[in-house]
Amino acid sequence: MQEKKDRVPSEAVAQATKEALKRRGVKVEDIAEIVYQMQLPYNEGLLMEHCIDSVERVLRKREVQHSVLVGIELDELAEKKMLSEPLQSIVESDEGLFGVDETLALGAVMTYGSIALTTFGFLDKQKSGIIKKLDTKIDSSVHTFLDDLVGSIAASAASRIAHRMRDLEEAGETFADVPAIEPESTKSTTDL
Ligand code: MG
Repeated sequence: MQEKKDRVPSEAVAQATKEALKRRGVKVEDIAEIVYQMQLPYNEGLLMEHCIDSVERVLRKREVQHSVLVGIELDELAEKKMLSEPLQSIVESDEGLFGVDETLALGAVMTYGSIALTTFGFLDKQKSGIIKKLDTKIDSSVHTFLDDLVGSIAASAASRIAHRMRDLEEAGETFADVPAIEPESTKSTTDL
């Protein structure tokens, strides 16, 4: 069993996740934009700030952080041609029948329930916003895992908002009543 002293501090994992996304050209705002476009029709008063907050909360989940770190690492190793064959060619070319990228992203989305799961499937087909950009091969960069991870984070953040909306409805409120950046103490008790 791993000794407690050998454990990686949670803050270090969270920080590494943020840095990895930034290094690969994905901003929290890019993911939030997808969430905003998907959820706006159903959520009166929804602002980009609410979506940014939701994405940031998803990124605090250790399960999500681990998936992002593993996926980005594999993309980067493939870019540097450091994987062994035949995996190198499979990841580099984003081979059609290779589904481990989706499976990894799917694992992260499970934390956020059935709405996140179905939304992830929708985004996998629809490829909105930055997902489309990442999925389109323009140079030697490899985003085989990243496009699915972004879809997973967006789907989870959208699911959070859908659940939050129900809480607000029951309280006779809408997102228009929610401050764009909520203080920690007012966090919903049903927060996923
Ligand atoms: Mg992919």
